[in-house]
Amino acid sequence: MTTFHLNRCLSGFLKYTSKRTPISVLSRSFSSSDTLRKDDNSQLFDVVISGGGMVGAAMACALGHANVFEDKKILLLEASPQKDFKLPEKYGNRVCALSPATKKLLSGFGAWEEICNMRYQPVKRMQVWDACSDAFITLNHDDMTDDVAYIVENDVILAAIMKQFDKIKHNVTVMYNSKAEMYTFPSQIQDGVQENLWIKVHLPDGETFQTKLLIGADGFNSLVRKQANIHTLQWDYEQWGLVSTLHFAEPTENVVAWQRFLPTGPVAVLPLSETQSSLVWTTSPDEAKRLLKLPKENFVDALNMALWDEDKKDSFAVRAGQVAQDLINTVSPEGTSFRQLPPTFTDIEDESRAAFPLSLVHASHYVKPRLALIGDAAHRVHPLAGQGVNLGFGDVTCLRDVLVQCLCNGGDLGSLSHLLQYETSRQRKVLPVMFAMDGLKRLYGTDFPPVVVLRTLGLQATNSMKSLKDFFVTQATN
Ligand SMILES: Cc1cc2nc3c(=O)[nH]c(=O)nc-3n(C[C@H](O)[C@H](O)[C@H](O)COP(=O)(O)OP(=O)(O)OC[C@H]3O[C@@H](n4cnc5c(N)ncnc54)[C@H](O)[C@@H]3O)c2cc1C
Repeated sequence: MTTFHLNRCLSGFLKYTSKRTPISVLSRSFSSSDTLRKDDNSQLFDVVISGGGMVGAAMACALGHANVFEDKKILLLEASPQKDFKLPEKYGNRVCALSPATKKLLSGFGAWEEICNMRYQPVKRMQVWDACSDAFITLNHDDMTDDVAYIVENDVILAAIMKQFDKIKHNVTVMYNSKAEMYTFPSQIQDGVQENLWIKVHLPDGETFQTKLLIGADGFNSLVRKQANIHTLQWDYEQWGLVSTLHFAEPTENVVAWQRFLPTGPVAVLPLSETQSSLVWTTSPDEAKRLLKLPKENFVDALNMALWDEDKKDSFAVRAGQVAQDLINTVSPEGTSFRQLPPTFTDIEDESRAAFPLSLVHASHYVKPRLALIGDAAHRVHPLAGQGVNLGFGDVTCLRDVLVQCLCNGGDLGSLSHLLQYETSRQRKVLPVMFAMDGLKRLYGTDFPPVVVLRTLGLQATNSMKSLKDFFVTQATN
């Protein structure tokens, strides 16, 4: 073959490798000894997970506990220092409503048992209602027997997962205080030699690691995503989520999660114990700043007003709703559900108020050759239905299953053909949830009367359809 022909072949090959599938093809064409540069002494890991938040840590645990990963090397890099967690008496102000599907994942490697040894509160029922009318919807299993969600503090979830690393020290290494500052992606062939087949991770102190598969779990500002040139669809909601820990005057059976839609954003109250609940109050940045500075008593008054006051009711929507409800009661009396009155709070925990800007972020791709994004690095949704971390844990379950299958078939962990199964499966789940949350946020973000009337009728009709509500409960819990 002449040099000309060789160059033609090579340039054709290079063109092919610049599309989305090439590296997996390359990885099947070269053995690791051919491809690693001889002067490169970085340690090689089968999987490096960048970001040890709730989702990244769960990913490391899920892989570390899988039989086929027994002899593999997994590295978890976390930017923040190691915390020696001791359950505090006071509840943390950051909590999540975990779904039964998340409970199943965490149970699989012992973290749920650990949560039970610390603390959590089951939710038997959710009640969501509109501040501009009397429309409401309740979601629960029949007779309120099964739990629809579990409220757990973020610190408790993370500590319970981290505790599981003791059992998998042989295949999982955790490095704290280790903020990856750069990633080098597989380079193309130069002078007929593959410069670097694996992804290289660089730490600020000059230490480097190579990996067959990099999993980006580094949150919504993901550096992995940025450096891999994965575009995002994103917008700022121009809303903040204000969190706090709330106190009741008297102990009560606290098993209902409440959410009231105000035109400024939803206010949600999640049960923590017989005497405490956790608040997520979505509102404009200016209002959030004002609420953060209010004296405690005034803040509690403002919150009780947000849950109870009738000022925003549209009289026409209320009347239209009553007529529709009478009709529903006549046609389908078994479909109606009872409305509970929301709680009233008497105090908040000192120093428990904090607020976070909210945005939507969605990565156009969740995978590239030798790369997968999980959790908020792949998708960040509005917290109004408490789905964010549950979607992240869903990514963990799906990616673990795909990678286990890949190894069982003797495949390459970074091969795009496997990773694409993960992407397709997760985007089918995440996109409808993300757009539903976004749509609800917009639908309830107005007090324009025709919209209020339409959503009142829609919510009441939905509340009367048991099969549709059962479907919502199933979707939210899986
Ligand atoms: C107000 C509010 C309420 C919410 N309520 C709920 C709820 O009820 N239910 C629910 O499911 N979700 C909820 N969410 C969403 C949930 O908190 C997030 O989806 C979840 O925290 C995302 O977890 P993550 O591990 O993907 O990302 P993160 O929690 O952002 O973790 C990323 C980790 O990566 C580390 N990191 C970053 N860069 C690097 C680097 N270069 N190298 C190494 N490490 C790095 C960080 O230190 C961090 O530990 C809520 C969110 C908000 C704002």
